[in-house]
Amino acid sequence: AGSEVVPAQKLADADALIDSVETFIFDCDGVIWKGDSLIEGVPETLELLRSKGKRLVFVTNNSTKSRKQYGKKFETLGLSVNEEEIFASSFAAAAYLQSIDFPKDKKIYVIGEEGILIELELAGFSYLGGPEDGGKKIELKPGFYMEHDENVGAVVVGFDRYFNYYKVQYGTLCIRENPGCLFLATNRDAVTHLTDAQEWAGGGSMVGALVGSTAREPLTVGKPSTFMMDYLANKFGITKSQICMVGDRLDTDILFGQNGGCKTLLVLSGVTSLSMLQNPNNSIQPDFYTNKISDFLSLKAA
Ligand code: PLP
Ligand code: CA
Repeated sequence: AGSEVVPAQKLADADALIDSVETFIFDCDGVIWKGDSLIEGVPETLELLRSKGKRLVFVTNNSTKSRKQYGKKFETLGLSVNEEEIFASSFAAAAYLQSIDFPKDKKIYVIGEEGILIELELAGFSYLGGPEDGGKKIELKPGFYMEHDENVGAVVVGFDRYFNYYKVQYGTLCIRENPGCLFLATNRDAVTHLTDAQEWAGGGSMVGALVGSTAREPLTVGKPSTFMMDYLANKFGITKSQICMVGDRLDTDILFGQNGGCKTLLVLSGVTSLSMLQNPNNSIQPDFYTNKISDFLSLKAA
């Protein structure tokens, strides 16, 4: 008792939702685009919301690109979005380290792709690892001892298509042996849709390897953790109850909105189907659900 879940309502009145908030936070994959294709009706919908004076913010757990690279992606898709409005989990890692005044003379070991490196560098941090360690192999000769940099004060793990045993061992040594070494995850998505043909192992798989080897839990900076929500609310001076979080995934996007005390809207244009939402085993219920964000256009009062 006391924790009864209220089932999501089908969105019927877009005007009422739009009028009730000042900011929309949009998840990207499954809401704005799918892979490299724009979802139908998105430009018109964003235009409508901007014309009503709404602040639009875009949040993605995909750490492989920097916010500038996402800016290019939006542009390529014909959307005018400023890179300052984009919050990728790669950026979140750098923003988190800045927020705790992570010492600039310490280093960060990165398991992940280019996006994280670019954001760390822009924030003035020094790092090692990343794609450079992608081809490294360990030759286990008798007595082989792997050195590691004792000045690494944080290990950041994100989605990494060049993941290997060298990186696991290097990150493990830093976390286990460097006193006070932080363990950060950009995101822990179990699976992702690299192609629309099937589900692919997501960033959670790389993070899980280091959880297994270190017996430590990372601090996640992407969705559903509260870090990015607090950061955004603080940066733009937004009251969280004045935000509607729009996403396609229950355990990242909708939880992110709920953890932040925001209104939540699930769209069925990505990874979650209506039957998954309504499955009795699913306890994450958004306030509203609808097929895709362009439903705002047709659900508006005429
Ligand atoms: N991580 C990776 C590697 C991805 O490819 C994706 C989606 O494409 C995501 C995370 C999830 O991104 P989003 O938060 O925009 O749905
Ligand atoms: Ca998504």
